[in-house]
Amino acid sequence: MCVITGVYHRKTNTRSQKIPPFLYTQILLLLLNTLSSPSFTHTHSNSLLKRSIQSMENSIQFDLIVVGAGVMGSSTAYYAAKHGLKTLLLEQFDFLHHRGSSHGESRTIRATYLQPHYYPLVLQSYKLWLEAQAQVGYNVYFKAPHLDMAHFNDPTILAVIENCRKHGAQHHLLNHMQVAQKFSGNFNIPEDWVGLSTEHGGVIKPSKAVAMFQTLAYKNGAVLKDNAEVTDIKNDGGVVVLTASGEKFHGKKCVVTVGAWVNKLVKKINGVELPILPVECHVTYWRITEGHEGKFAIGNDFPTFASFGSVYVYGTPTLEYPGLIKVAVHGGNPCDPDKRPWGPLVMMNELKEWVEGRFSGLVDSSEPVVKQSCMYSMTPDEDFVIDFLGGEFGKNVVLGGGFSGHGFKMAPVIGKILTQLVVDGETNEVDLKHFRIGRFNLTSKI
Ligand SMILES: Cc1cc2nc3c(=O)[nH]c(=O)nc-3n(C[C@H](O)[C@H](O)[C@H](O)COP(=O)(O)OP(=O)(O)OC[C@H]3O[C@@H](n4cnc5c(N)ncnc54)[C@H](O)[C@@H]3O)c2cc1C
Repeated sequence: MCVITGVYHRKTNTRSQKIPPFLYTQILLLLLNTLSSPSFTHTHSNSLLKRSIQSMENSIQFDLIVVGAGVMGSSTAYYAAKHGLKTLLLEQFDFLHHRGSSHGESRTIRATYLQPHYYPLVLQSYKLWLEAQAQVGYNVYFKAPHLDMAHFNDPTILAVIENCRKHGAQHHLLNHMQVAQKFSGNFNIPEDWVGLSTEHGGVIKPSKAVAMFQTLAYKNGAVLKDNAEVTDIKNDGGVVVLTASGEKFHGKKCVVTVGAWVNKLVKKINGVELPILPVECHVTYWRITEGHEGKFAIGNDFPTFASFGSVYVYGTPTLEYPGLIKVAVHGGNPCDPDKRPWGPLVMMNELKEWVEGRFSGLVDSSEPVVKQSCMYSMTPDEDFVIDFLGGEFGKNVVLGGGFSGHGFKMAPVIGKILTQLVVDGETNEVDLKHFRIGRFNLTSKI
């Protein structure tokens, strides 16, 4: 895995295409003066050189500045740089930090959705994940089947089944005995439940995938800079992006993909308060009973899965931690992303009951053995926000947020869509009406 940290990781030949030659002359002179000075030390030379490079970058006009280097910002930086845009990616913390939404070891990819507009986006994403991993040379996507389950009358599973039919998506509707048969007795659903199985499942490795997009963005000439908290964005015909340390970056356009911080930044930029709620949630891993570990491993018939009802449970086959299986609740507690409680897990009793009941004692349901904390950015309808910020910025600032705990799988197509909005002002990937800011009842300047 290639991890990019620190400031300005660009190859000399890439940089030389982008920085005006006169600035190189200035740097060279500065370096020569410094080296010839009697008080020269290695540390002095480094800090002077770094400052000069910083002022060079600050004076560049970027085509696109992407704010926020989670999976959405990193994928956007890749597709924009690949498209030939002079791209800068800014991140407030270290790259690949664990304080947002895109870190960790596994995310489910599945095509079964109750809203019809996600099906084509997921199918396109499968293709794009394969293309991107072929570019970088290692795998971030691991194939598995997928199983949804619920009471036969549950409105979510009924909508999911309806969508599969509507899209002609390959699927099998199973009763409780057929579920046990198809998945080698690993799942035990009640008699009045149904299972919906499809080949469109799988696991994405999130931290590795973010690193992949950052590596590919860099390889395509993007400038990557972490520990750069954006405090404001101003309109000067293009955009001026200001950071907490006093730097100013100039761009023609800007994409804002700041996850759970979206309200904080957007409110600062134009006073608009979006109904996007930061929620702290948890991933939990459970120990498989000794001797049964192989049954839950990826690569056999064990699927990624989701279970609908009063509690929404989801999970993945064993991949990251041998002998453990990820089974978690979709939900959490509202939080301030800068003052995280790192607090209690929600619906643990219901989850324990689910693990006990569905896995027939093959998984120890007494307590999860690994707990990891993460953040969702929830919209009221759980649809994304992909739109122009509008107001004085017109089409110069594009927002990608509110991914509501289910966006990771679609990160490549979202990066492509955000790039299309920057370049063409429109996208052919999806009808944006589902994702417009205007669907919320806002009292705002937009
Ligand atoms: C526990 C959990 C499980 C999930 N499971 C799934 C799943 O199975 N399948 C699926 O498809 N999706 C899943 N998701 C959802 C998915 O992970 C998110 O939708 C996705 O990671 C959101 O990415 P993002 O880039 O919008 O946000 P983030 O990853 O949070 O990135 C935003 C970045 O912006 C930076 N930033 C914020 N403010 C500023 C600023 N002012 N200046 C500079 N940088 C800033 C932040 O530091 C952060 O790095 C899950 C999420 C969680 C938390």
